[in-house]
Amino acid sequence: MQRIFPCALTPEEYVATEAHRQVRPELLCPLGCGCAGRLHGHGTYERGITTSIGKIVLMLIARFLCVGCGRTISYLPDFALSYRLVQARTFAAFLDGEHARREVQTWETVLQSYRRRTLVNAAAVVRVVGCGFGRAPPATAEGLWPWLKEACGSMSSATRRLVTDFRITLFKRYQCHQPARV
Ligand SMILES: [Zn+2]
Repeated sequence: MQRIFPCALTPEEYVATEAHRQVRPELLCPLGCGCAGRLHGHGTYERGITTSIGKIVLMLIARFLCVGCGRTISYLPDFALSYRLVQARTFAAFLDGEHARREVQTWETVLQSYRRRTLVNAAAVVRVVGCGFGRAPPATAEGLWPWLKEACGSMSSATRRLVTDFRITLFKRYQCHQPARV
């Protein structure tokens, strides 16, 4: 299972400070097996992430094992998007029309594909969230990002709240965000 946690660092800072070592798992297994305090460190995995100037760095993601249900839970910092290389802030800048930014220009083609994917997925997000953010849902797919930004403040916060509270991302509903099937 994948969890998204709030992280005030940039990807560069996360890598430089080895922030994956500071990640603490939740007290209760998020898979819903009912086990408390039994998440043990279970190594890391490596993935790429773009920096603020559009370069790619590799970062380590902390992983834990629940000894109750025998499943693993990884903790992704919220500057990263699930299964996407380009960081959340760059995607937000792209959607906000900041096309002069170097990192946006570098990843423009990829960001266009991200945008297409969110437009296809917008109806699913709106269906799941409904009025869950305390305001009326957007009328169009294009209105999804302005609505999320207004409600959550940033792409990082939006992606974390979507996964944590609604078990969906901007792009797709992933099995790894769902609770365990009993
Ligand atoms: Zn468990």
